[in-house]
Amino acid sequence: MAAPTFITIGSGSTTGVYYPVAVGVAKLINKNVKDVRANARSTGGSVYNALSLQRGNLKMAIMQSDIAYYAYHGQVVKAFLGKPVKLLRGVAALYPEVVQVVANPDIKSIAGLKGKRVYIGDIGSGVEQNAKQILALYGLSEKNITPIRGSASLGAQLLQDGRIDAMFYTAGIGSAAIQQITETTKVHFLSVSANKAKELIKKYPFYTAREIPADSYKGQNAAVPAVAVEALLVASSDLPNKVIEAVLEQGLFKQGKTEQFVKLHSNLKTYFKLKQATEGVGIPLHPGAIAAYKKLGVSVPK
Ligand code: GLU
Repeated sequence: MAAPTFITIGSGSTTGVYYPVAVGVAKLINKNVKDVRANARSTGGSVYNALSLQRGNLKMAIMQSDIAYYAYHGQVVKAFLGKPVKLLRGVAALYPEVVQVVANPDIKSIAGLKGKRVYIGDIGSGVEQNAKQILALYGLSEKNITPIRGSASLGAQLLQDGRIDAMFYTAGIGSAAIQQITETTKVHFLSVSANKAKELIKKYPFYTAREIPADSYKGQNAAVPAVAVEALLVASSDLPNKVIEAVLEQGLFKQGKTEQFVKLHSNLKTYFKLKQATEGVGIPLHPGAIAAYKKLGVSVPK
């Protein structure tokens, strides 16, 4: 019997979407892929995951597409400057992550966050980058707000308790953290208008204009214009090709198994599609993923 390959999958806060999805990926691997043992770990988020892959502490992770690009090229995020994460490889695009800005109802716009206490993500999150870039779009910097960092669970708690004024959270729609807030607290979802989205995309092409559909959360009766990035499943280039091939062919995209996997979260049910798994990845795909997609008949971008 071959010695098993152990894979730790980095995710995010337990009340985000990454964590339940990573737990699901690990289960799928353990049940269906021979000689591979996987487990999911709760982490600070995208930036932390990229740095942990670099150090060899993680072998797979879920990560925002923008952060994956910055990591691979050593750009934008301070921790990556001059230290590109060259071993980072794409495995599959999972679902869009919308930058959701939830505020107490007195605040009517992102410009109105000036002078307020604002949660901008966990240490090592991708959220923080999105928060900074969107604040800048409205002429604000971190200096114009009181920035609060910590797990998404903490952010949600603080907003519920009225100890902060707003929360940025880049995550799949229906994240437990935001659900928790709207269950008990009256909030207003701040929008990024189509014009502002255009301006942002010009500068940072990883964003797409999307909306938070009406009734995604309790009390959120109208659609909210917003911007989004893509959640990616990524891996270290030192995972053997046949392991990644098996993860995709016998796990995520095996007929019958995919149907079970997508039941984990409404985002997967709506968005996780074999034909779109290579779209918006932005970093080189793992050679094992390329081999699997070729066999599965999915076009692989050059
Ligand atoms: N996109 C977030 C981040 O990278 C995490 C969202 C989640 O955990 O679902 O920081």
